[in-house]
Amino acid sequence: MRRRALLVTAIIVGTLAIPVSAQAAVDDVNTTRLRDAVTVNGILTHERALQRIANKNGGTRASGTPGYAASAAYVKDRLTKAGYTVTEQAFEFPFYQEVSPGTLSQVSPTAKAYETVTLDYSGTGDVTGTVVAATNIVIPATETPSSAAGCAVTDYPAASATETQVALVQRGTCVFADKVANAIAAGYDAVVVFNEGNPGRTELLDGVTLGAPVTVPVVGVSYADGVELYDAALVGQAVVNVTSEVIAETRTTSNVIATSRRGNPDKAIVVGAHLDSVIGGPGINDNGSGTSVILETAIQMSKLRIQPRQQLRFAFWGAEESGLLGSENYVATATDDELSKIYANLNFDMLGSPNYVRFVYDGDSSADPEGPVGPPGSAQIEEVFNEYFAGKGLATAPTAFDGRSDYGPFIAVGIPAGGLFSGAEGVKTPEEAALFGGTAGEPYDACYHEACDDIRNLSTAALSELGDAAAHATMTLARSKGGFFDDNSRLPSRESAQVAPEQFDYRGNQLTR
Ligand SMILES: [Zn+2]
Repeated sequence: MRRRALLVTAIIVGTLAIPVSAQAAVDDVNTTRLRDAVTVNGILTHERALQRIANKNGGTRASGTPGYAASAAYVKDRLTKAGYTVTEQAFEFPFYQEVSPGTLSQVSPTAKAYETVTLDYSGTGDVTGTVVAATNIVIPATETPSSAAGCAVTDYPAASATETQVALVQRGTCVFADKVANAIAAGYDAVVVFNEGNPGRTELLDGVTLGAPVTVPVVGVSYADGVELYDAALVGQAVVNVTSEVIAETRTTSNVIATSRRGNPDKAIVVGAHLDSVIGGPGINDNGSGTSVILETAIQMSKLRIQPRQQLRFAFWGAEESGLLGSENYVATATDDELSKIYANLNFDMLGSPNYVRFVYDGDSSADPEGPVGPPGSAQIEEVFNEYFAGKGLATAPTAFDGRSDYGPFIAVGIPAGGLFSGAEGVKTPEEAALFGGTAGEPYDACYHEACDDIRNLSTAALSELGDAAAHATMTLARSKGGFFDDNSRLPSRESAQVAPEQFDYRGNQLTR
């Protein structure tokens, strides 16, 4: 995930009202009984059930599809039988599915097809028109992102009322959604966005979301192809054909929340994992693994009659893959009073990556002093995980709070968060291979967001080690008498410390900027 370190520009706004104790005041809790009960076999029981659900539902468990509804029914049933109070929080969201791959070709003066992708939430269309470049395009690109092309509507020459025209714009300083909205406002019939050209930003522009549906086709290309189209547009009449075919419509999905019958509801611990997969696969590692680990932890805590001192809420989020929409809905629909009673959020998104690492969310921003710092308490949660792994002789590495998973909406309102991550599409470094084993130069999960993220795409060693650590942290926070701070009377509030979500370059796993 090296590229994230370059992209993250999140900042802390507001003041740090709560003094952060140098020492974690969270008690040592003996979690041996629970960890012995949460086994790989128990976790895999749920993973197999999720795989069967995907098999019966077109290979996907994405929000807005029957595979998600069946996944929600499965966890609801298991949690109800385990004695939890289970609720389903339904919400509407913008469903998006690419029906066929987008295309981009130059019609004249030179007939040529380009490698392209449809940006998420593009409209459907088949548009042939003259390419018009936005102003303020920066070629050659600077060392760091600087192109403000398309960030203002005046960056686009007013489109012709009679002629079909395609806007060409460069990635850069403002979000893609703004660049595209401005092109549409200026009257264009399609938009081509090219990668900016700085180091690490030259390849085909992929994995991008506009966040909400737009009315025209929007496709991405590499920097080199963008420069070629730019040059062609400047010297004369470059005509291109852009096509996209998508389903973009409002659908309903849900979060499943299981609340413990015991425990102080004024100090609730929300233990979350997203339940949905991407459209393109069954999502057994992403995030059947986090789902199965917290489900099995909930079941075993109940079986062992472990009474939480703090209320536990096991949350199975919907529509994470559409941009953290389930966790966002949970936080957005809670009152200030309800939010102030959430003591902490634990997040588990990918715990079984085949070429795994043991990443712990970097609550104190120790790895990147310029990076986002979690709200007060986040450093103490990180410490709970690090101390646990150190006690087992297992190395860990910090991973930044960059907005790529469901802790985002919680830290955005000042709730401390922490959790684990075994790695996604990032490539394992030789240093990481020395620390964690596995294969350097290979992705942590080569099947990330692919159809092959199935029951074979799991490391049982990762599930064992990270599953135990997740159970340990859940029980530790639920049972600890001590809190995160020396002054235990004050809880983090909306005003205390917030990581502003608009500072993130990601929405879920998709690039926004
Ligand atoms: Zn995920």
